[in-house]
Amino acid sequence: GKERSPGEYRLYRPSTVHLPAHEMIALERDLHRALNEDGLRLMLQPIVTADSQPNARVTLAGVEALVRIEHPERGVLSPDTFIPVAEASGLILPLGAWVMEQGLAWLADATRQGLDTQTIAFNVSAREIHAGGLVERLADGLERHDLAAQRIILEVTENVMLERDSVVRETFDALRALGCKLAIDDFGTGFSSLSYLQHLPFDIVKIDRCFVGEVHTAPRQAALVAAMIEMGHALGLSVTVEGIELHEQASRCLASGADHLQGYYFCRPLPAAEALARFITL
Ligand code: C2E
Ligand code: MG
Ligand code: MG
Ligand code: MG
Repeated sequence: GKERSPGEYRLYRPSTVHLPAHEMIALERDLHRALNEDGLRLMLQPIVTADSQPNARVTLAGVEALVRIEHPERGVLSPDTFIPVAEASGLILPLGAWVMEQGLAWLADATRQGLDTQTIAFNVSAREIHAGGLVERLADGLERHDLAAQRIILEVTENVMLERDSVVRETFDALRALGCKLAIDDFGTGFSSLSYLQHLPFDIVKIDRCFVGEVHTAPRQAALVAAMIEMGHALGLSVTVEGIELHEQASRCLASGADHLQGYYFCRPLPAAEALARFITL
């Protein structure tokens, strides 16, 4: 990186690791082991659509790939703990490659078995974009698994847009040219200004779950969600609301025009091996 003069301000980055050094080192070791000794687990969570009338049928629109570490002593580790360490150490690159390969293999298998799921969404870190090779790796995976690029969604958080960087723009353009869709994840929680919406080619906005906890009881929260959905639509984006845990939250978001919903109310993330059987009945 660039040298910084002593008085210079640094942008606060939410992905910065705020852990004691020994915990970071331990997590990095856990990550290494998980990568080398079959300790990663792919989870899938459905993303659904529904009409806004009461008791409307819910249909599966797609899935999101979410990774876990299965630690031999400490049990299942959450990505909120180890993704920041993976980003800081660079291990996010082999980790992201693993998730993508497993996810594509799952989608190909699910399709062969007759599951009517359209898309799979992958979370992509800034580091993976800046490292290069993401587009080539995805194109190669799609070819090997005989999948259409139109079925792939790449989710990035607003923090990817903190720096006005030509690599981000070029990567997004290349992903779009391949046929993939781009989603803004955790919308409304990042530190970047909304100006990126003017010039970056997104297809989907995912409203963060912090906006839905009281959407069915608090008029101000409901107004905020409705306004975000309207803004997304005005920009030609499809809108997904994350973190739906209650029927009332689902109804409220659908009434406000949400295109897709995701949350424990419909289904928790499931191990890839169980997901197929479960999603067929959804
Ligand atoms: P995300 O991409 O925003 O994923 C949604 C998170 O919300 C997931 O947490 C999911 O389990 C959780 N969630 C879904 N529905 C509900 C709900 O109704 N209520 C609540 N309270 N939570 C819900 P998870 O799986 O722990 O993942 C956390 C974050 O870790 C993800 O947030 C994503 O930013 C990151 N992550 C996960 N897998 C990957 C990966 O393969 N690569 C990268 N770069 N990041 C990943
Ligand atoms: Mg996501
Ligand atoms: Mg999210
Ligand atoms: Mg998140």
